Amino acid sequence: MKKVDLIVIGAGPAGIGAAVEAKLKGKEVVLLEKADAICQTFVKFYKDGKRVDKEYKGHDSTNRGHIPFEDGTKESSLATFEEALKANNIELELNSEVESVKKSGENFIITTPKQSYECKNIIVAIGRMGKPNKPDYKIPATLNKVVNFNANSVQEGEKIIIIGGGNSAAEYAVDLASKHKVTLCYRRDKFTRLNDINLNDVETAAKEGKITLKLGVDISEVQDENGKVKMLFNDGSSEVYDRAIYAIGGSTPVDFLQKCGIEVDDKGVPVFDAHKQSNVKGIFVAGDIATKNGASIVVGLNDGVIINDYLA
Ligand SMILES: Cc1cc2nc3c(=O)[nH]c(=O)nc-3n(C[C@H](O)[C@H](O)[C@H](O)COP(=O)(O)OP(=O)(O)OC[C@H]3O[C@@H](n4cnc5c(N)ncnc54)[C@H](O)[C@@H]3O)c2cc1C
Repeated sequence: MKKVDLIVIGAGPAGIGAAVEAKLKGKEVVLLEKADAICQTFVKFYKDGKRVDKEYKGHDSTNRGHIPFEDGTKESSLATFEEALKANNIELELNSEVESVKKSGENFIITTPKQSYECKNIIVAIGRMGKPNKPDYKIPATLNKVVNFNANSVQEGEKIIIIGGGNSAAEYAVDLASKHKVTLCYRRDKFTRLNDINLNDVETAAKEGKITLKLGVDISEVQDENGKVKMLFNDGSSEVYDRAIYAIGGSTPVDFLQKCGIEVDDKGVPVFDAHKQSNVKGIFVAGDIATKNGASIVVGLNDGVIINDYLA
């Protein structure tokens, strides 16, 4: 069993930020990531070349941490976080999904498939993207390959429908519009959750005829039409697409929080104090997991500062 001051669970921006701030304050810290690479939200949900904004969804964009994150792309942002780990000599363990957290006297015991750790404090920074939201109507299993929850499988020239009204849906639509025939479908009459840049990009692309907007219309059924996606809309219309991408958010991995004994509210958001400490003394929450709708990279980085200032 390895003994350290702090275990950080999840190597996204919030977890990496928290580990770096802890190390700079002289703490012995290990960062555990379940996947075989860091920043899985970038890897799985950002399209290659995606613009990454420091000011995102109107969240605080003043970075109070020591990782020099600036506006850039998916690739430059990944490089920034890789470099921060290297420059600060952070002990990162990949393929280390945390399965359980147990209290042992004043300390905690954490078990991964590779090793067990004993630590004084834990920062949970597992994000919210583990489980993308799915629509409540049934999607035929035969369409699994062409009904997706990110844009990774898109083939050039496809006719695509993107469902959702948030920044992810807008960014997928605008990015894909240059090489595909794209429809953006949102059940409300207008976009209320987009940041200014994305709202402007969507409106411009729609005006220029690069994307088709289908607003105020919901999908009532999805059918398999010879391997293509037939969407039946609640206004009585229907249309066939090569591919559908649902970008309708993700839910808090409540099971994990509850396994740690962390109290969650009726929306599945953990309960915490001004230092981001949960009801379990010694367990803190950082980044998207501490929010209802997800936050931003800078918010995640700043959470690491708040927690480590308190622990110092
Ligand atoms: C399409 C899209 C575009 C976005 N664009 C921007 C943007 O331009 N600017 C911006 O600021 N924000 C943007 N965001 C939001 C930003 O990506 C998130 O706010 C940020 O990634 C949250 O960081 P995090 O560290 O809290 O969680 P995540 O980035 O989700 O990282 C969590 C990590 O924890 C790991 N993990 C999960 N469970 C376990 C476990 N049990 N054990 C070990 N590891 C685990 C995951 O594999 C993952 O690597 C965007 C989000 C999306 C989806």
